[in-house]
Amino acid sequence: MLTKRSNTKKIKIGTIEIGGGNPIAVQSMTKTDTSDIDATVKQIHALEKEGCQIVRCAVPDKESAEALKEIKKQINLPLVADIHFNHTYALMAAEAGVDKLRINPGNIGDKDKVRAVVDAAKAHKIPIRIGVNSGSLEKKIRRRYHGHVTAEGLVKSALNNIKMLEELDFTDIVLSLKATSVPMTIKAYEMIAKKVDYPLHVGITEAGITKVGSIRSAAGIGAIFAQGIGDTVRVSLTDDPLEEVRIAYEILKSMELTYHGVTIISCPTCGRADIDIIPIAHEVARRTKRIKQPLTVAIMGCEVNGPGEAADADVGLAGGRGIGLIFREGQVVRKVPENEMIEALVDEIESMAIN
Ligand code: SF4
Repeated sequence: MLTKRSNTKKIKIGTIEIGGGNPIAVQSMTKTDTSDIDATVKQIHALEKEGCQIVRCAVPDKESAEALKEIKKQINLPLVADIHFNHTYALMAAEAGVDKLRINPGNIGDKDKVRAVVDAAKAHKIPIRIGVNSGSLEKKIRRRYHGHVTAEGLVKSALNNIKMLEELDFTDIVLSLKATSVPMTIKAYEMIAKKVDYPLHVGITEAGITKVGSIRSAAGIGAIFAQGIGDTVRVSLTDDPLEEVRIAYEILKSMELTYHGVTIISCPTCGRADIDIIPIAHEVARRTKRIKQPLTVAIMGCEVNGPGEAADADVGLAGGRGIGLIFREGQVVRKVPENEMIEALVDEIESMAIN
């Protein structure tokens, strides 16, 4: 198990506490029009069911800001309002009872407007996330780095924004410094983690479509987590937000930072395989994805590594010339023909998940 950076400040986002060694919380963002209350609430309920712990909604207009109150009434998850340019939407969101504001003080406008947002956050006792993003880095900072976005520039922007809030006596802050470049994002998080103790929300922005976006996110977020950095996470995919939550958990599970649901260890199969592993692994993954209890399931093709891996997992299948040995907690509990393997393995997994 990795050591998580535990010296970050504890911050409350509704019912969730982040930072200070708390487990990394999984976030996502709705992809509905926020002013469409029914669609947004429906998506938030689906996200909650998938294990999402914090949800963010874009607030690009007055109608969306007005919808927040009703959305908040109908959901359980802590709600974050994502606001750019127009500080009055942040004031409306705070009034509506959201649990956090995500702003970029640099694009909120002059100091009086930032002060008004900070006063609202103070009055409602909600934190503010300063979300620095490579796509909206201040021109002044870009110029300093020869017109380019750099990790140093992202850090500079974050520090400037922190200073702006601290000067207003506000320290209920969460930070993120996301870039589309994976190495730049890693470097920015490494640098900022040495400079401040505010909790860090981690992600690779605009990572892309599902497969590539998941790989880019895993590479970047994994490298950041490996250093003990990160208090909340969002995987940004050009896909259904439920997929973002699933991939976030896969990354957390891979880094052994959470134990959630079924982890399938399956061999890549080769010329030695005695059973057809690929469809078996896919089918078992599909049929067990709703299980929330942490369980390791090994699906192995032959006697080389099969019995060893299968015996080490909570539940396992090892193939051998048309038959399958089903293991449970290290012991062979059944020997089944190939056409009954999937059923037998799923039965065993489900019975273990209940007990
Ligand atoms: Fe090949 Fe057996 Fe290893 Fe699977 S467990 S990759 S079938 S040697």
